[in-house]
Formats: sequence, structure tokens, C-alpha cells
Amino acid sequence: MQITSGLPETFNPDSYDMIVVGAGYAGAVCARRLAETSGFRVAVLERRNHIAGNAYDCLDDAGILIHEYGPHIYHTFNERVHNFLSRFTEWTDYQHKVLANIHGTLMPVPFNHKSLKLAFGEERGEQLYRKLVETFGEDKKVPIMELRAKNDPELVEVADYVYENVFLHYTMKQWGQTPDQIDPSVTGRVPIFIGDDDRYFPQAPFQGMPAKGYTHMFENMLDHDLIDVFCDVDARDIFEIGETTVSVCGKVYGGEIVYTGPLDELFGLDLGALPYRTLDMKFETLDMDQYQPVGTVNYTTSEDFTRITEFKNMTGQVVPGKTTIMKEYSHSYESGSGQTPYYAILDPENRALYERYLDRVVNLTNFHPVGRLAEYRYYDMDAVTDSALTLSDEIIACHA
Ligand code: FAD
Ligand code: UDP
Repeated sequence: MQITSGLPETFNPDSYDMIVVGAGYAGAVCARRLAETSGFRVAVLERRNHIAGNAYDCLDDAGILIHEYGPHIYHTFNERVHNFLSRFTEWTDYQHKVLANIHGTLMPVPFNHKSLKLAFGEERGEQLYRKLVETFGEDKKVPIMELRAKNDPELVEVADYVYENVFLHYTMKQWGQTPDQIDPSVTGRVPIFIGDDDRYFPQAPFQGMPAKGYTHMFENMLDHDLIDVFCDVDARDIFEIGETTVSVCGKVYGGEIVYTGPLDELFGLDLGALPYRTLDMKFETLDMDQYQPVGTVNYTTSEDFTRITEFKNMTGQVVPGKTTIMKEYSHSYESGSGQTPYYAILDPENRALYERYLDRVVNLTNFHPVGRLAEYRYYDMDAVTDSALTLSDEIIACHA
């Protein structure tokens, strides 16, 4: 692999069998699979000055490994994804834990057996827990919106407490809407857990952190003789999308194109901008060993930011006397303003707009949108990897 900044004047798209736009999970997985399985020569174009997309990590001025675009914790139920990624990294056995700061008391999230007792007291908490077990069974996950739909007075008591103290304020900050107004799959990502497992991703069989960081894992994934990576290159500067063909550097391109950026951008937003939420991330390095007891504390009843992450608690890095924390402030995204589109806003109207952009590329048989941006989905890293592996299978099959 070669990483170059900018495109050399000699760059010739025709010397590549595939052009990949974006060096995040979606792009890097496809590049690797096609290079090693089909012998494709692959050019990866990335507009940032680094690889790894939003999973990028690096050392800050204090020498602490930080996640530049927000805390990333790997977890999956998908064995194929896990086996694929594990070729490029070893994993630490980090098990992510999150506490919610609820009026000054730290309680596990997902809200669980222990949280109930902290919120309602030992005796009442235990009674309510028994009721949940009777209704749903033990070690079960129940989305808050499902719990809210129950009529039983004790379940309503729990649902009201959790809705008010865990979801309402946090969701307002994150999305500018209440939990009732947003797609239920969003709050469903953090269901109530009827049990004692206090991990953020209860029951996920594979979880941890890449032992030498995400960027290192991506370096290994892209490290293949047939892959060239060009950073600081915006594909829009050299792409022209026609009705049935894509031109690259002024010539119709005959190879495959994997596109992992936002679809609306490709068309100058001419049907309107796809709505996203973005984040401002405020990093602070403090003169102390440890700031908070776990990787992330969610501020669910107070503060303007949603959560504080302390990176050393997740990576296990030892840096005496210093620690770096990060606060996330969410707001709506403005296209073309230099902000990052972090979260697609899932609703039928936005989906319909996305589909209209998608219609524009269906006749481009060599153009493949994939990933969190290009598919306009709320994908975790494992889901993106899965989607990219599936797309790779299809392209490989076409060229077999
Ligand atoms: P990206 O990582 O966004 O990569 C796309 C790349 O394409 C970018 O680098 C971009 O610069 C580049 N690009 C776009 N357009 C162009 C263009 N025109 N020309 C050139 N390059 C272009 N997932 C988890 O599993 N666990 C977590 O804990 C977790 N935490 C998260 C926290 C936050 C704050 C966010 C926002 C996401 C989190 N995720 C997490 C999700 C994870 O970041 C994504 O699933 C994953 O990074 C998506 O990969 P991708 O390749 O689809 O997109
Ligand atoms: N959520 C909440 N309170 C919490 C945790 C999550 O209200 O303490 C809601 C909120 O709407 C959030 C969604 O659940 O956007 C998904 O949370 P998750 O932690 O999965 O978000 P991400 O890590 O993707 O930002």
C-alpha cells in the first residue's frame, strides 16, 4: 500500500480496476476484499488527511490515544464480521460500561436491576424488578417505547421514570426532538436490560478495542500491494455523474466504483439536503490520573452536552498524571459548512428524499453506494462492515 497526499499529475483512473471513495470501514473493507480476492488494482480516494473514517484515532498533545470523531467501541454478534476484522488487529477485552448521571447519582445504562434499586431504593426496586421479570423474563432487553405501551401500574411507574430521567432530556439534546417523535429504533439501541449485566452492549459475544487502535487496524487492512490510497482528494473534483456512466478525470470510467460519501453531495444537493445531526466535540486534557469511573458518563438530566468520554478508561493506556476527556454537543448539520454529517435523521420524509437520490444512480451499473453515509443509515461499525462484505461478494461474483 502507498498513501499519497493529493493526486499525482500522472494519476490515470484506467490503471485501476476499482475506485473507492472514502477510507472508512465501507471503503477499506471493499478495497481489501477486491484486491485480495479478485486481484483488482484499487485506488482509494479520501478527502480527509487520514484513513479510518470516523473511527480514526490518534495521539493528542499529551500522548493520549483519542478518538477524533467520538468514542468508538467495537461490539458485534456477527461472526463473519468479527473474523474478517480480526485478521487486521488483535483485541483487548474491554467491555464498555456507561453510567447515567441522574440528578447527581450515577446509574448503569442500559437501565438494569442495579439501576432500579438505585432509583427506587432496595425494596421497591426489587419489587419492580420482579414485575419486569414476570412480564418479560430474565436477561431480556425491552425498548423504552415498548415498556411505555404497557398498562400495568408498576410497569408504568418504571417506564415513566426511565423515560423522564434517561431518555427525554438526552434525546432532546441529541436530536432536538422527544423520544416519541423520533424513530423507535433509535432509543431501541439502548433498551432496558432485565438482568445484572451492566455492560453497554449486554450479551454481545465479541466486544473490545483494537489493541493498537483503529487507525492501526485500517493501516493493516489497506496494506496490500494492489491498493493505493490518496488522501486530501475530494472525489467530487474529478467525478462527473451522467445518466448511465460516471466519468473520472474527464473520461468515462469502465471499472467499478464504491462510493461511501453522502449521495446528495454528488448532485450538488439539487433535490434538497439530506438532514443530519452533527456534533461539536470539546477535548480537554486534565492533570489527574482518572476523571470518571467508566468510559462514558451520559448526562441525562442536566448539562448542554450529552456525554463525557474518558479515553484512557476505554483503551487501558497508562499515562500517569494526565487524562483526556471529551464532551459532545449535538446540533443540526448544515451542508457545505465544513461540518461532519454524523447521524442520519431517520424519518419517512428523509428516507423518501434519499430514495430519490438513489434513483439517480440505479442506472449506473458500476457505481455502488455503501456505508453509513451512502446508505443514509444509523449503522454501527459491524453493520457497515457486513454491508461492505456483502457488496464485495456481489462485485466478486460479477467478475468471477
Ligand atoms: P465513514 O467512517 O464516515 O467514512 C466515509 C469516508 O468517506 C470519510 O472518511 C469521508 O471523509 C470520506 N468521503 C466522503 N465523501 C468523500 C468524497 N467526496 N471524496 C473523498 N472522500 C469522501 N459504531 C460502533 O460500532 N461503535 C461505536 O461505539 C460507535 N460510536 C460512534 C460515535 C459517533 C459519535 C459516531 C458519529 C459514530 C459512531 N459509530 C460507532 C458508527 C461508526 O462511526 C460508523 O459505523 C462507521 O465509521 C461508518 O463507516 P463508513 O465507512 O460508512 O463511513
Ligand atoms: N439515549 C438516551 N439516553 C441515554 C442513552 C441513549 O436518551 O442515556 C437515546 C438517545 O436518543 C440516543 C439513542 O438512545 O441518541 C441511541 O443511543 P446510543 O448510545 O446508541 O447513541 P450513539 O452512541 O450512536 O450516539
